Amino acid sequence: MVDLKGQYASIKDQIQNSLDEIMETSAFINGPEVQKFQKELEEYLDVKHVIPCANGTDALQIAMMGLGLQPGDEVITADFTFAATVEVIAVLQLTPVLVDVYPNTFNINTDAIRNAITPKTKAIVPVHLFGQCANMEEILEIASEHNLYVIEDNAQAIGANYSFKNGSKKKAGTIGHVGATSFFPSKNLGAFGDGGAIFTNDDDLAHTLRGVVNHGMYERYYHDVVGVNSRLDSMQAAVLRAKLPNLNTYNKARQEAARKYNKVFQDCKHVEIPQVETNQSCNKDLGICSTCDCHVFHQYSLKITNGKRDALAKHLAELQIPHGIYYPIPLHNQKAYKDSRYNEADFPVTNELVKEVISLPMHTELTNDQIEFITTTVIDFLNN
Ligand SMILES: *Cc1c(COP(=O)(O)O)cnc(C)c1O
Repeated sequence: MVDLKGQYASIKDQIQNSLDEIMETSAFINGPEVQKFQKELEEYLDVKHVIPCANGTDALQIAMMGLGLQPGDEVITADFTFAATVEVIAVLQLTPVLVDVYPNTFNINTDAIRNAITPKTKAIVPVHLFGQCANMEEILEIASEHNLYVIEDNAQAIGANYSFKNGSKKKAGTIGHVGATSFFPSKNLGAFGDGGAIFTNDDDLAHTLRGVVNHGMYERYYHDVVGVNSRLDSMQAAVLRAKLPNLNTYNKARQEAARKYNKVFQDCKHVEIPQVETNQSCNKDLGICSTCDCHVFHQYSLKITNGKRDALAKHLAELQIPHGIYYPIPLHNQKAYKDSRYNEADFPVTNELVKEVISLPMHTELTNDQIEFITTTVIDFLNN
């Protein structure tokens, strides 16, 4: 699904030099590399504060702790996402409220958000799934009408831009009150291990978050708030510093691969290609915008509409073509998150998507030959 080795070859010297230096100086935790990475990411994202932490799941949890959410508060999020999003809500004894998504973008449905709001609702967690932002303009409107926090799960869309109706743009993860991302190796900006970060433009919240990640300490051995231990280590920061200047190029390579896939699949009758939400500045070519980075293709996910998704997955496995099913079970049907408040009729789209989606290899090193082999295999299978 990903080719991390190929990407490494191009930045190997830089990474090895930094790692050598870290070992020489032994500044393994919170060393200069972490601080430099933080500043560089703040600049890249055009956000006031980046708070590095240990992984994307922690980033979400720490964001919720920093906002002071309390047990019993309801948090609305998407039924169709990785479990980490809902897990942290439950861990903090907040009440997850799962809602359906849109069939075209796979992102949280804003009408469903409105319908789920109660007097206990305190926050919305949009997930920018597969590399494309949720409908943030409307989510911000809902949040301001109902006085809710917006916590962006940006684990899959780092570097993506979101365009507002007035033409202004913001980077994914910097639009709501707080954003959380992951540097898991296979994400668009991946470390050589675990890593994560929280973003915010709010000075007070940033101060709180910096304490929460560090045992609630603002002054050594004075614990003012309940915190956690969640750190990005210097070696991961060094890897991320080497990759960050290439992130836009990496994302362009993903878009290019998506365009090549689309070219083949757009006319295939049993397949629906991923839809990129259009805005006025989009310049689409084969369904992919090449001008505004509105989709950074963490995953390239097709919908197989003739009921043969599982058979296709089996066929690809036999030919050793990597593929993924993100996600096979709606969160509202997972044992850990079942709740009598949920009604199957409220999740028509997620219930359909879990049967139709399949993700094909997507990374920065895909060759034309690989894409041709993959697409030919899929088309031949579906047409037979
Ligand atoms: C990867 C991911 C996370 C969690 O990130 P980790 O760094 O693995 O903890 C959270 N949400 C989504 C949508 C993800 O894809």
